Amino acid sequence: MIELANVKKVFQTKQGNLTAVEDVNLTIKNGEIYGIVGYSGAGKSTLVRMFNGLEQPTAGTVSIEGSIISQLKGKGLRKERQKIGMIFQHFNLLWSRTVLENVLFPLEIAKVPKEQRTEKAKELIRLVGLEGREQAYPAQLSGGQKQRVGIARALANEPTLLLCDEATSALDPQTTDEVLDLLLDINKRLNLTIVLITHEMHVVRKICHKVAVMDDGKVVEQGDVLEVFKRPQQDITKRFIRQDA
Ligand code: ATP
Ligand code: MG
Repeated sequence: MIELANVKKVFQTKQGNLTAVEDVNLTIKNGEIYGIVGYSGAGKSTLVRMFNGLEQPTAGTVSIEGSIISQLKGKGLRKERQKIGMIFQHFNLLWSRTVLENVLFPLEIAKVPKEQRTEKAKELIRLVGLEGREQAYPAQLSGGQKQRVGIARALANEPTLLLCDEATSALDPQTTDEVLDLLLDINKRLNLTIVLITHEMHVVRKICHKVAVMDDGKVVEQGDVLEVFKRPQQDITKRFIRQDA
């Protein structure tokens, strides 16, 4: 379970203090696919970066399975972070390395014995449907295939949580659907908790169980996806749903 209690993030900028996230309270259960929706600048990425300690909250706590990640540092933080995978809009792959080498990379970092590494990486590549493309370079792959490599790499250390920051935003609608199907399949097969940032409600409708809507740093609405679609409370939520129809 992931619990955020009164989480706040203030950035110090040249123009003064900027509150990116304000007083967020959220509970995400194991195995859930949780959508976070909001316009650009709403604070979605900042919020999710606090899940794996890439940002430290200015106030409040982020805890995962009872361990307060927002208080960990150094080795302790690195250990917790290994249980969290992340995928990105622009894939963030190692461009000079092959598909296989990209997936091997986190296994090398985690010091998985050499004999096991290749086998594990190949198994992950199979899982994401890229069997036969092990020796290809990212530049030789389509957008959807690149994201599959990103997913395989994110799953290398058997995370219990996968963070997706606009992971389908650079993809066309059909490829988006295919990647979402893969995420859904992985969620079911591995009982993996997924937190998915998006600005597209159809993505939420397709795979999320729960959704939180962010506006100006705050979570203004949250609940079961079906309920939120049926009875949106806030204007911003209604706008998101309408825009998607
Ligand atoms: P987008 O949909 O465009 O990705 P977002 O909802 O992910 O937007 P964030 O990236 O979390 O939004 O940014 C929230 C606010 O915090 C923005 O005003 C942004 O400019 C600011 N911000 C984010 N990171 C930093 C930083 N490292 N230093 C200063 N300000 C930041
Ligand atoms: Mg963002």
